[in-house]
Amino acid sequence: MPIYKAPLEDVRFVLDEIVGVGQLSQLPGYEDATPDLIAQVLDEGAKLCEEVLFPLNQSGDKEGCTFENGVVRTPKGFKEAYDTYIAAGWQGLSCDPAYGGQGLPKLVNAMLEEFICSANLSFGMYPGLSLGAYNALHKYGTEDLKARYLPKLVDGTWSGTMCLTEPHSGTDLGIIRTKAVPQDDGSYRITGTKIFISAGEHDLTENILHLVLARLPDAPAGTRGISLFLVPKFLAKDDGTPGPRNGVACGSIEHKMGIKASSTCVMNFDDATGWLVGEPHKGMRAMFVMMNAARHAVGIQGLGLAEVSYQNAAAYAKERLQGRSVKGAKFPDKPADPIIVHPDVRKNLLTARAYTEGSRALGALVGYHLDLAERHPDARQRQESDEFVQLMTPIVKALFTDIGSEVANIAVQVHGGHGFIWETGVEQYVRDARIAQIYEGTNGIQALDLVGRKMGQDMGRLLRRFFHPLQAELEVDMENEELAEYAIPVAKAFGKLQQATAIIAQKGLKDPEEAAAAATDYLRLFGLVALGWMWLKMAKAAGAKLAAGEGNAAFYDAKLKVARFYMAKLLPQVNTLFITIMAGAKPLMELEDAAF
Ligand SMILES: Cc1cc2nc3c(=O)[nH]c(=O)nc-3n(C[C@H](O)[C@H](O)[C@H](O)COP(=O)(O)OP(=O)(O)OC[C@H]3O[C@@H](n4cnc5c(N)ncnc54)[C@H](O)[C@@H]3O)c2cc1C
Repeated sequence: MPIYKAPLEDVRFVLDEIVGVGQLSQLPGYEDATPDLIAQVLDEGAKLCEEVLFPLNQSGDKEGCTFENGVVRTPKGFKEAYDTYIAAGWQGLSCDPAYGGQGLPKLVNAMLEEFICSANLSFGMYPGLSLGAYNALHKYGTEDLKARYLPKLVDGTWSGTMCLTEPHSGTDLGIIRTKAVPQDDGSYRITGTKIFISAGEHDLTENILHLVLARLPDAPAGTRGISLFLVPKFLAKDDGTPGPRNGVACGSIEHKMGIKASSTCVMNFDDATGWLVGEPHKGMRAMFVMMNAARHAVGIQGLGLAEVSYQNAAAYAKERLQGRSVKGAKFPDKPADPIIVHPDVRKNLLTARAYTEGSRALGALVGYHLDLAERHPDARQRQESDEFVQLMTPIVKALFTDIGSEVANIAVQVHGGHGFIWETGVEQYVRDARIAQIYEGTNGIQALDLVGRKMGQDMGRLLRRFFHPLQAELEVDMENEELAEYAIPVAKAFGKLQQATAIIAQKGLKDPEEAAAAATDYLRLFGLVALGWMWLKMAKAAGAKLAAGEGNAAFYDAKLKVARFYMAKLLPQVNTLFITIMAGAKPLMELEDAAF
């Protein structure tokens, strides 16, 4: 049976020592979000995830969703768990109090999302999609639409979806065919088929609000001709209760590799009534609000699965007895030593842990800047934070989900043959983690976003939001004897990142295929440097605590040792990545298509 405990001590360390969460309560509207309150909220969230959601994860995987006569049923226990979730107000945790939300920082919600994804990723899909729909509607909806629909999304009695994908149109949304025809009353008639729609139909809520990309009759071709519409399953009556059924129905659900308790639906829109969200033909802009928040959230899915995978691998490695330490028996009284004595098993565990804790720190820092970008009184700080978030979004999405998948595989490896068996629980994490690398823009597309859009934007202004603070921190830390063993490897890796950036930018100007060919390796290189920065910060904070004799010495000592592992064994991968980036596009492009 798999285990899960929310990593509250590490979360508090990251919030207090890396992010400086105390500053959040200085922001307008966040006055109540003191570190104590945030800790209490996360303690409660941890209980919900450990006691309510986690026990349904394996049974949900086994049972999956079912489809019969247009009705989708979630696995046993999901409806009750969802009711518990919304009754406690978790859905509205970071939502606007004007619509019934609790108005807590987005950072707090991101930390809770990690716990939810560790405990039960399939469950997390339903509230996650609702929050995405809330974000788009909150920013771009008319006052009337907001008043009618937002309170229901916030209290969770209604849920949301995002309907982009069509059978012939996945990554390339410019070719979608769903049509929207204006009506005299200001509404639109939406017709088309969407596929792979998460939470498109289910039995958790009394109504479902679809945010749908479609084309108006006069739409220009490509992504410049896409508009966004709100299409409810049941049209809302004036008193806020569900009214007549709209022309939208689920045609079937997918039978998937993982997240089996999350419904993935074909949705047929047949003259369905909808309302425009945002301006005509500017739907991609509105959808991007949803997608950026969703990309951060999908990155957190990878982190959540990495954490639970690591916990199970570490627990197993301490109890499984096989072989003897190569240095001689460590537990001579036992028939064999626990496998944790073996260097290769330790390498697996430390890799899992270093990636996971590094990602948590980076995800929290980006989450913090999401709040600063929205709330800081100084416009310049808001802009700088927004630029940092924009730059880091593809990295959080792609790096964390790659890590989620890698760490889930590590957990299977540490379990040996038992990891391959369903009952043990870790093979589910491999299957569940795989989708996060694909949806919300595949990881290859995230890399293109980083290289093609973010890197060159405003003469590299976005890059400076990362490069400048890291440079400044390194200059100080390199002079500090205690920190040199962490700061020097990060400085060297950062040098490679700067060189790679300059070369890709230069080559890419002449030949865009050169930049595209480097993109995935560049994103990984960037991500490894970013995690290096986080481990430097964590080593600095842990060292200071140890020196002051404060807190849990074993926790801080472990931080230093994992930081050293990261610098010695993982960060040097930047050198190989640098070499492969330098090899350019030719090795990828010279084999003729027909020869594949
Ligand atoms: C379980 C699940 C849930 C989903 N949930 C939703 C949802 O709620 N709403 C929704 O709208 N969609 C959803 N999707 C769809 C998902 O977002 C798409 O599958 C994804 O965007 C990729 O599109 P595609 O499958 O058509 O692949 P394709 O676009 O056909 O891509 C195939 C491969 O080619 C690569 N590729 C494509 N174009 C390029 C390019 N220009 N440059 C480089 N490489 C390229 C891709 O990276 C990929 O590796 C879901 C999918 C699944 C499986």
